[in-house]
Amino acid sequence: MLGLMQDQPLMISSLIEFAERHHGDGEIVSRRVEGDIHRYTWADVARRARQVANALDGEDLLFSDRVATLAWNGYRHLELYYGVSGSGRVLHTINPRLHPDQIAWIANHAEDQILCFDLSFLPLVQAVHAKCGTVKKWVALCDADKLPADSGIPGLVSYEDWMGAQSDDYAWPSFDENSASSMCYTSGTTGNPKAALYSHRSTILHAYAAALPDVMGISARDAVLPVVPMFHVNAWGIPYSAALAGAKVVFPGPALDGKSVYELIEAEKVTYAAGVPTVWQMLLTHMKPAGLRFSTLRRTVIGGSACPPAMIHSFQQDYGVEVLHAWGMTEMSPLGTLCTLKNKHLDMPADAQDAIRLKQGRAIFGVDMKIVDGAGKELPWDGKAYGDLLVKGPWIVKEYFKGEGGDPLVPDEQGRGWFPTGDVATIDADGYLQITDRSKDVIKSGGEWISSIEIENIAVAHPAIAMAACIGVFHPKWDERPVVAVVKRPGADVTREELLKFYEGKTAKWQIPDDVLFVEAIPIGATGKILKTKLREQLKDYKLPAA
Ligand code: ADP
Repeated sequence: MLGLMQDQPLMISSLIEFAERHHGDGEIVSRRVEGDIHRYTWADVARRARQVANALDGEDLLFSDRVATLAWNGYRHLELYYGVSGSGRVLHTINPRLHPDQIAWIANHAEDQILCFDLSFLPLVQAVHAKCGTVKKWVALCDADKLPADSGIPGLVSYEDWMGAQSDDYAWPSFDENSASSMCYTSGTTGNPKAALYSHRSTILHAYAAALPDVMGISARDAVLPVVPMFHVNAWGIPYSAALAGAKVVFPGPALDGKSVYELIEAEKVTYAAGVPTVWQMLLTHMKPAGLRFSTLRRTVIGGSACPPAMIHSFQQDYGVEVLHAWGMTEMSPLGTLCTLKNKHLDMPADAQDAIRLKQGRAIFGVDMKIVDGAGKELPWDGKAYGDLLVKGPWIVKEYFKGEGGDPLVPDEQGRGWFPTGDVATIDADGYLQITDRSKDVIKSGGEWISSIEIENIAVAHPAIAMAACIGVFHPKWDERPVVAVVKRPGADVTREELLKFYEGKTAKWQIPDDVLFVEAIPIGATGKILKTKLREQLKDYKLPAA
């Protein structure tokens, strides 16, 4: 017997219809590429998204054809999120920080038909457009009078010209909720990038989950600032969950420096912000010396790479801002776990609570996780046993676009497929996950594993250290030993010996790095994470000091 409830597919367009009807005057504020501030409402987003849909219908596109963006977080990008997916096309957000050759490769692989870009990426588009054979229309996300006259890009139109003349009367189509809605390529640190292809169903389920109180907890009382880019894994789903909740949204555009982000938080009374640790580091570095405070910010989600304990402590204790440490990946839409306390933790001292917040958190309903040993046997949830982390759930990939890389899933005894994350983790008895490392970054010393994240966290807890990256270096007896590359804070000083001494008592003796390398900069990849592959390459001639 089937249930007797209405059979209604989960459609991304329903989010914008809902936001328009129930939160029509909710504000959307954007810092534009031009530097000024643009303001309008959810009703305006909905109206202009319908114009985008009409413009796309006039472009001779098929269902599921890809429309790409190279754009910062801003209102026009948001309109494309809804106009493209809502009308049955696939929004392909491209990461502009990738190498131009990689961008061209991705655009060709995705067979992008239209590419919309912010004017700050004009030089990039000029460099790649001739190599993007499938793109038949280039749209500059600007007013008609800002369109460069001699761009060299054939048929370039301004977004406002392209969609502005269209009717805003449009009936969103309804179709199979499993249809593709958007796509995002992984950064491809090994081999060519592979794309996660999200569906309407996976996006809506992820948006529901993200809005839960123990996840992002986004509400109609929030003013949300997604510093996480819309060009990578849909800004952690905020463009969708903010519509579902009816939150005010504040987009930072290209200005991600500490000063600009701080001013926007204060001016727009932001209550909630989301970003990677490197961005928050810039914010705190700007605020501390000037003695600045937050007037409205209450919570911040930090994820994408491990959040250093010093940062959690500073937000919580110095600024009274709750830190929600999050873990996820492109292949997971991206949210997997979020760290919030349980009722039994509330009476704990602040430091003990901070120790929990350091973990990446508990699984969101919808995400199943387990850790396994080398033979695939499940390991206990005791907070000590560490192993490869596998996940499954309705917003996790089962396969990459075009079957690239073969079947990634690992079957369990019941034949259910689990996605191997490539992360190594522990899970404690309360279900809190802690990422020890990426499996390829873990340091294997004398048969034991050393977490590079732990070594880095200790280094950045030293007041003179701004940034740290730990890698394993060949050792004739122990196979590998850790060395830590560090960048000093401007004006601060510390010696190799002092830093090594700083490790004493903070980690097991055999885990203390064998050497400290002072460097000018640590290579950062396109998603703001440390590029260990590049660091290893830079240090390929490095030899450990004689013991
Ligand atoms: P995203 O850019 O959304 O983080 P990626 O697919 O580029 O997604 O990277 C995912 C990887 O980033 C994870 O597999 C994990 O190694 C790392 N990561 C993400 N969040 C955290 C976190 N909070 N702590 C430690 N590592 C993290």
